[in-house]
Amino acid sequence: MQTHEIRNRFLTHFKNAGHTEVPSASLILDDPNLLFVNAGMVQFKPYFLGEAPPPYPTATSVQKCVRTGDIDEVGKTTRHNTFFQMAGNFSFGDYFKAGAIEHAWNLITSSQDDGGYGLDPDRIWTTVYLDDDEAIELWRKITGLPDERIQRRDGLDNYWDMGVPGPGGPCSEIYYDRGAEFGKEGGPVVDEDRYLEIWNLVFMQDVRGEQSPKYGHKPIGTLPKKNIDTGMGVERVAYLLQGVDNVYETDLVRPVIGKAEEMSNRRYGADHTDDVRFRVIADHARSGVMLIGDGVTPGNEGRGYVLRRLLRRIVRSVRLLGVDEPVLPEFAAVVRDAMGPSYPELVRDFDRISAVMKTEEDAFRATLTTGSRIFDVAASQTKDSGSKVLAGDKAFQLHDTYGFPIDLTLEMASEQGLQVDENRFRELMEEQRQRAKADAAARKTGHGDLSEYRKVLEQHGETEFLGYTDLQSTAR
Ligand code: ATP
Ligand code: MG
Ligand code: MG
Ligand code: MG
Repeated sequence: MQTHEIRNRFLTHFKNAGHTEVPSASLILDDPNLLFVNAGMVQFKPYFLGEAPPPYPTATSVQKCVRTGDIDEVGKTTRHNTFFQMAGNFSFGDYFKAGAIEHAWNLITSSQDDGGYGLDPDRIWTTVYLDDDEAIELWRKITGLPDERIQRRDGLDNYWDMGVPGPGGPCSEIYYDRGAEFGKEGGPVVDEDRYLEIWNLVFMQDVRGEQSPKYGHKPIGTLPKKNIDTGMGVERVAYLLQGVDNVYETDLVRPVIGKAEEMSNRRYGADHTDDVRFRVIADHARSGVMLIGDGVTPGNEGRGYVLRRLLRRIVRSVRLLGVDEPVLPEFAAVVRDAMGPSYPELVRDFDRISAVMKTEEDAFRATLTTGSRIFDVAASQTKDSGSKVLAGDKAFQLHDTYGFPIDLTLEMASEQGLQVDENRFRELMEEQRQRAKADAAARKTGHGDLSEYRKVLEQHGETEFLGYTDLQSTAR
């Protein structure tokens, strides 16, 4: 079943049950706590918070989402995209737990001839929050799931709130057992690779206080009107229904891998390291197009920096597949063709999207060219001196002055049989971080000690591309 059909069936299912269809919001909403929209409920927050009366009692949507925290998982797990589509149904004081469970169960287990996804009920597992006996009882009654496939889980996974005092509640998540060849027995609590999470049902019933029930604290009250917020991963369901091995091989993502195969003359599926690169390329190309489509442009901070990181990672990955030509506009065209039917604005706006990509790619390619020259000199000097370890100071200089990412330095070093003194590199990064902190503190107070800041400027000049690896290593 194609991704487009999965979306449509979701919306139809909930519209037939009286839900109002609401279009996806932009990836960028005016929310100071959020870089990008990362869940379907974000555009409905005012209704959940009681700040505005909901114009409808129930709603359904397929929301564009970007999760930057998942960047490092991309290509390595089978299930994490940076951009994905979250299908959701929402109840604002209308139906509650029983309705949410029943709707989800019917959609995933009804046969494909009846408009459902036709997943085998014997492979479905669910989790509930530790003390949510009510949910356990409902799962039993409504779905007939046996007790051993209803697992209790603690707040970290199964309690939801907004990170601040306000609405909160336990969740129930739905998992699909991909089979014994994919991991250990024992349900999602034991193995989240074999048991694939496809849908999260949030039962918004509590008022959380200063301390979150995520960490075992008791809620301080009960909401006057209970709400439902759910999110189903469209790409994950596609991955199951298309009989492929991961979200990157689904119909709307895989075409970019095909393009990269063509360009590189390497085959996807032949080599693990290459495969991760292929997946990163396909995932990031799609996210890049969607972000630029919603008005983000590459830059050195915030949203622009995330976009820059995604695009540069594509360019780098493509190089590592042995391709030296510019690639981004071509990938963008493949993404447009795949995503265009659901997102016509990408077709309308393609020239602009492609131009943004081209400019960024040209700039980064220049960086890479200069950096590679410096690297080659450093590598020969290292070898000439009889050493097998490239100095950490060199790696730092490459990073700091030429914007050359450390993982590329590592990769190129290993191609030449060299190691890199990473400890020294990290030490220098840490020193730089401290200086940047002093700088930020000085800027905040407006009258801080600027001597540290000046020292940095004198030593390194104003670099354009600080913190590439910082973000890379801390993001999760
Ligand atoms: P995981 O534990 O697999 O990282 P999650 O618990 O963080 O997922 P939720 O916040 O519950 O995910 O989001 C609701 C649904 O959205 C998930 O059940 C999943 O189907 C989908 N989803 C979440 N993150 C991603 C992602 N990075 N790529 C694709 N789909 C995702
Ligand atoms: Mg996650
Ligand atoms: Mg999860
Ligand atoms: Mg979840």
